[in-house]
Amino acid sequence: KYQNLQCIASLGFGVDHILRDPDLPPGVPIARLVDASMIHAMSEYILTAVLHHTRQFDLFQQDKSLKKWQARRPLRAQNVRVGIMGLGHLGLDAAQKLRLMGFQVSGWSLTAKHVEGLTAWAGPEALEEFLAQADVLVCLLPLTRETQGILNSRTLTRLPAGAYVVNAARGEHLVEEDLLTALDSGHLSGACLDVFREEPLPESHPFWNHPRITMTPHIASLTDPKAVAPQLVENYRRVHAGLAPLHVIDIEKGY
Ligand code: NAP
Repeated sequence: KYQNLQCIASLGFGVDHILRDPDLPPGVPIARLVDASMIHAMSEYILTAVLHHTRQFDLFQQDKSLKKWQARRPLRAQNVRVGIMGLGHLGLDAAQKLRLMGFQVSGWSLTAKHVEGLTAWAGPEALEEFLAQADVLVCLLPLTRETQGILNSRTLTRLPAGAYVVNAARGEHLVEEDLLTALDSGHLSGACLDVFREEPLPESHPFWNHPRITMTPHIASLTDPKAVAPQLVENYRRVHAGLAPLHVIDIEKGY
């Protein structure tokens, strides 16, 4: 109904909520946010999740509730292979920071990447090989037709036994029942989830009481109003001046 609409601005890094609008007018550019402080916040989250797992904080917390003093040997970063799905603004930064911590880091994206110190796989044909070497799998993909439900029984069982999963991208990436099956069978050692198919997570959801799931309520990298406002103003000015807006997504690809 906005006849003069010349740009649609997402107030987040993702645009899936906009693309699923059935009334989306064709041909109007969609701009997303890109912000260094939000990228850094996501990397903090991913590092926290990975270190929480490798330093076995869940087990120490359980020991504490039993007043049990038990020294456990942590996993050492240099022996842990972290695989990152999505090597975009968020995935690449997290990969570089994990590498500085000493982890063996690999990544998977749509197009081939050459990043120093990072083993990179690309395309659907390389997915299984990538998964087979990820002791910790981190999902930082955009939600698209191709990535919807990508964390499912087939992909989760490709991970090495005892693998840990971190999903900080979108709830629809994960087939939640398949995660529960993989955890309960003992194939996966645990998961850290920031996003869910239904948010807020319903009270009856089995994730709430699962001992090997760490959860946060979609706060991995919150939109910062101070970052958003200047980008909206800048794009408004650019459209007025007849320039292309910044950070326009490819509607066909969906990100
Ligand atoms: P981005 O810069 O657009 O990067 C996306 C990455 O995913 C790219 O490396 C892309 O490959 C890869 N990719 C896309 N489709 C793929 C496919 N079918 N197969 C393999 N790789 C594929 O995105 P971003 O800024 O890093 O953000 C990623 C997502 O994080 C957002 O879309 C949003 O859903 C989520 N997010 C969550 C939070 C939170 O608080 N939980 C906050 C911000 C963002 P190419 O490089 O080859 O194109």
